[in-house]
Amino acid sequence: MKDTFKHQGMRQQLVATVKKKGITEVKVLDAIGKIPRHLFMDSGFLDHAYQDKAFPIAADQTISQPYTVAFQTELLKLQPCHKILEIGTGSGYQTAVLCLLGAQVYSIERQHELYKKTSKFLPKLGYRAKKFIFGDGYIGLKDEAPFDGIIVTAGAPFVPKPLLGQLKIGGRLVIPVGDDVQIMTLIIRKGPKEFEQHEFGEFRFVPLLEDKN
Ligand code: SAH
Repeated sequence: MKDTFKHQGMRQQLVATVKKKGITEVKVLDAIGKIPRHLFMDSGFLDHAYQDKAFPIAADQTISQPYTVAFQTELLKLQPCHKILEIGTGSGYQTAVLCLLGAQVYSIERQHELYKKTSKFLPKLGYRAKKFIFGDGYIGLKDEAPFDGIIVTAGAPFVPKPLLGQLKIGGRLVIPVGDDVQIMTLIIRKGPKEFEQHEFGEFRFVPLLEDKN
């Protein structure tokens, strides 16, 4: 599959849409403008790739809405070389955004099909995460902690405790919290036991699953 002028044109329209919705960070907008989202979609949805919407991918999961990806990325306040834990690799689109912004990305996925597919596909496009992990995001990644940022791309019924402990002091956890509807939540670690919490309105994600199925 190719990236064509037509795709590039549609991407610039998508950038304009996301900007209009309130995304201001230039690096994030540039990433949306560069990453060929149509290559992350299943063939049935190719024509929709540059709409600002979530779409189905394999294993009953979804590729997040570009606005949501941009919003969560902004909240991370990424610096190049930041060590970032991503929970919910999915299609790898968010992973690609983080890699393009220079982060060292560790990405966990609990659906084996998606873990296998995306860990092979992303390097082919030139986006190199540090590590793909087939595992459970609720427990985080103790061996690689602490992280400058943790981003959860599925709706969490509660904030998993291990993730708080795996943040650096000053580190940021971006997590949508709630059951049917989630509140985008930013938690900043201010000290060993001090956390500051900010909330940013409603979003809808597929659930962060607790039991393997
Ligand atoms: N960022 C992805 C979003 C995919 S949807 C994208 O834009 O494509 C959320 C992903 O979280 C799904 O792939 C789902 O399988 C995964 N997920 C759900 N529960 C999880 C868990 N406990 N640990 C890790 N990943 C999980």
